[in-house]
Amino acid sequence: MRVSGEPSFRESVDLMFNRAAKLMDLSPGLEQKIRVCNSTYTVRFGVRLRGKIETFTGYRSVHSEHMEPVKGGIRYALSVNQDEVEALAALMTYKCALVETPFGGSKGGLCIDPRQWDEHELEQITRRFAYELIKRDLIHPAQNVPAPDMGTGEREMAWIADQYMRMNTTDINGRACVTGKPPHAGGIQGRVEATGRGVQYALREFFRHPEDMEKAGLSGGLDGKRVIVQGLGNVGYHAAKFLSEEDGCKVIAVIERDGALLDPKGLNVEDVRQWMNRHGGLLAGYPNAKHVADGASVLEEPCDILIPAAMEGVIHLGNAVRIKAPLIIEAANGPITFGADEILRRKGCVIIPDMYANAGGVTVSYFEWVKNLSHIRFGRMQRRAEEARSRLLVEELERLSSDQGLGWSLAEGFKEKFLQGSDELALVRSGLDDTMRTAYQAMREIWHGRQEVEDLRVAAYIVSIGRVAATYRSKGL
Ligand code: NAD
Repeated sequence: MRVSGEPSFRESVDLMFNRAAKLMDLSPGLEQKIRVCNSTYTVRFGVRLRGKIETFTGYRSVHSEHMEPVKGGIRYALSVNQDEVEALAALMTYKCALVETPFGGSKGGLCIDPRQWDEHELEQITRRFAYELIKRDLIHPAQNVPAPDMGTGEREMAWIADQYMRMNTTDINGRACVTGKPPHAGGIQGRVEATGRGVQYALREFFRHPEDMEKAGLSGGLDGKRVIVQGLGNVGYHAAKFLSEEDGCKVIAVIERDGALLDPKGLNVEDVRQWMNRHGGLLAGYPNAKHVADGASVLEEPCDILIPAAMEGVIHLGNAVRIKAPLIIEAANGPITFGADEILRRKGCVIIPDMYANAGGVTVSYFEWVKNLSHIRFGRMQRRAEEARSRLLVEELERLSSDQGLGWSLAEGFKEKFLQGSDELALVRSGLDDTMRTAYQAMREIWHGRQEVEDLRVAAYIVSIGRVAATYRSKGL
């Protein structure tokens, strides 16, 4: 947790914004307009549970409406507060601009420990919270579209969508009021894994550039790189799983609420997660690795890539100096405080910033929203046509080979792969990969192209703020 006296999460985001804004040519009025959070709605509502009325506090912040709808997840955690929700809403504005999803920034939160309530109770609470937001257009397909965040997932999004449709029975686009729904309730393939998948694509793109690796003192590819992950929830689990199973990374430690697991040979991420699922989310007792009770201290272990994927403020003035990772990818929002960021930069650590690193979620949410508005699954019209064209080509090659006696034979498995048209999941992954590569290149151009830009975070802010400013200017502001 951040050290007392450090700026709050929202102040930290604003200070990072200021570092970038200083290097831009913005009028002071416009700079201020972009930085401030437009509005925060606080709601307190009661739900009759276990024989008495329980009162809950929730928030929905709208940071910027330069584009609508505004977009941002809903978090369920006891630590939720207005400052945090506003910081997260601001990050959503910059993130959406950076990855070119046509949304303003928003975020929501409910002060609740979801583990204290059973499924039916959580449904009642979620529907009531959604009702409060829907009646004020703070959930609406054209105005404000939430998604999952810490403590929420497909299940909660399906309840919210259903609640909206009960209250707006004739809205043909009702399903687009929220993203991250399960596929059978208007969701899209690949949304659950999207943020972790985006972290993997971000790292792959980073490792395509030897000069960038060199800045972190790294070389080679992802294969064999030692990774430490904090938080084996939606984002951390998928990132760790894909990096270890598909890119050859060794996940040498996993940090959770109840401590950490260490194995220098590399943990089996799927196995650890299955253990957690069977043991109430706890790592303790896992038989195939060493357990350390003080999880946070494991952030300081030597590794090649550190992936904080739990929550904000975990790398702070109190531990930054002891962090040894040369590369940190911020899978969580705001895991490094403003002060810690400065210490790490001075040590030569390269930080791939949150607004880029975890943008996979909002990117695939964008695809889901488009799917809901177009009322058709991606790939439905073209998949078989694509397959037919590929088949024509393969058959012609085979005919030429036999007619001309050339004796060509296609490599094993080639025909099967080549003939496969793209289904929704393949298209989603392709769109996500393209987005992550394009956004990295936009940051990179500024990082390498402008001498006064020291790091990827400032580069990311410059790209984002520039785009938001351009939208405001085109509106005559
Ligand atoms: P989640 O609730 O699925 O997982 C969070 C995990 O972190 C849980 O396993 C939890 O036990 C663990 N955790 C919590 N506090 C911890 C601590 N102090 N130390 C170690 N572990 C701790 O949440 P998530 O959706 O994976 O979100 C994680 C982060 O990623 C958040 O910062 C969130 O804002 C960000 N994010 C999520 C998405 C998304 O699509 N879900 C998108 C963008 C950003």
